[in-house]
Amino acid sequence: MPISRQVKNSMEHSSWIRRMFEEGVKLKAEFGADQVFDFSLGNPDLEPPEAFRAVMRRLVEDTRAGTHGYMPNAGYASVREAVARKASAQQGLAMGASSIVMTVGAAGGLNTALKAILDPGDEVIVIKPYFAEYHSFIQNHQGIVVEVEAGPGFSLSAENVRAALSPRTAAVIVNSPNNPTGVIYTRAELSALAALLSEHGARCGRMPYLIADEPYREIVYGGAEVPSAMAAYPETIVVTSWSKTLSLPGERIGYIAVSPRCADAKELFEALAMCTRNLGYVNAPALMQRAVAELLDEQCDVRSYARRGSELARGLRAAGYEFPDPQGAFYIFARAPEPSTARRAEAAASGLDLDGGADVAFVMHLKKYKVLGVPGRGFGTPGWFRLSYCVSEATIRGAIPLFAKAMEDWKAGR
Ligand code: PLP
Repeated sequence: MPISRQVKNSMEHSSWIRRMFEEGVKLKAEFGADQVFDFSLGNPDLEPPEAFRAVMRRLVEDTRAGTHGYMPNAGYASVREAVARKASAQQGLAMGASSIVMTVGAAGGLNTALKAILDPGDEVIVIKPYFAEYHSFIQNHQGIVVEVEAGPGFSLSAENVRAALSPRTAAVIVNSPNNPTGVIYTRAELSALAALLSEHGARCGRMPYLIADEPYREIVYGGAEVPSAMAAYPETIVVTSWSKTLSLPGERIGYIAVSPRCADAKELFEALAMCTRNLGYVNAPALMQRAVAELLDEQCDVRSYARRGSELARGLRAAGYEFPDPQGAFYIFARAPEPSTARRAEAAASGLDLDGGADVAFVMHLKKYKVLGVPGRGFGTPGWFRLSYCVSEATIRGAIPLFAKAMEDWKAGR
């Protein structure tokens, strides 16, 4: 068997986003890109801010010796110092360079953090719906994924986490603003989780880490605030990137911030610096480290995401779709409407699985209108589907009547 069972399992978990992306490629080739309304991928369509280009032009002219050499695995000390100032302001906790490890995006940061803390068989709790790749990342380091239901409105429910804790719990991953729901966890929810983890840790002698995955922290709407996970719980590791904030996902630059309140903060920092090397990342891209250090106050055009999100939300609500209002990130997670009896029979005849909800059937129905979303089961939550609105306003405007028609036809059994 040429491919490992674990890799096959990971491929299975990420397959819905990939599959819908591939459907989009086929449809665009057949009908033309402007005829397809593709809400399947979280790939920001906004360009980086102009300041990024200006900094890059300047940096490529830097001819000082050693500019392209190896560096400490955690990244340039001066960059980490600058990043620490920003992280301190966001988390409300004073940090210096020794709390920051520069990473290859948030994905590189999550893998580095999990590699540093997991022993084989350790458990990591994820909240449903979750970023699909958490499964692969946890399994990469011999961890076991423990899935927990969100609370009402996709809130963070400490009560639900309680039942999933065990002496093998190494970490809980929270992602706020959330992909795929757009929900921001409240201070009270984080405090309740922190109290639970502290109590559990004290009882069983192993304090779980809280991994706060925050690549969407700066993409929030209506003045919403993202409460600090570090302020809530001492054993916190924040992982983030500039993929969304500066629209740089291809450049692979992010960081890990270790709370100075972690019991083993110094050792953890050293472990992270070693793991980023051992995983083969070695260090985060040098040029990008120098670039982001000069762009700490810059952002992509967040207001444009806000406009798109509210326009799409308005159109979908008017057409009868149900979903929590997006507070941040650029996703809407909507309920797949109930299928009619006739539609159930049709789905059964074509071998479609309606177990747990009609997300796959409804996403396939949307495809007939050349509208693409991703079934919720790709995020561990059947019965819902994700729409990613990092697409042009023309795409949103063009799609709204199609969403309405699709809903009308679905209800009428057409
Ligand atoms: N975490 C979440 C919740 C994400 O949505 C993403 C990317 O979409 C990542 C992590 C990975 O981000 P990066 O591209 O910076 O590795």
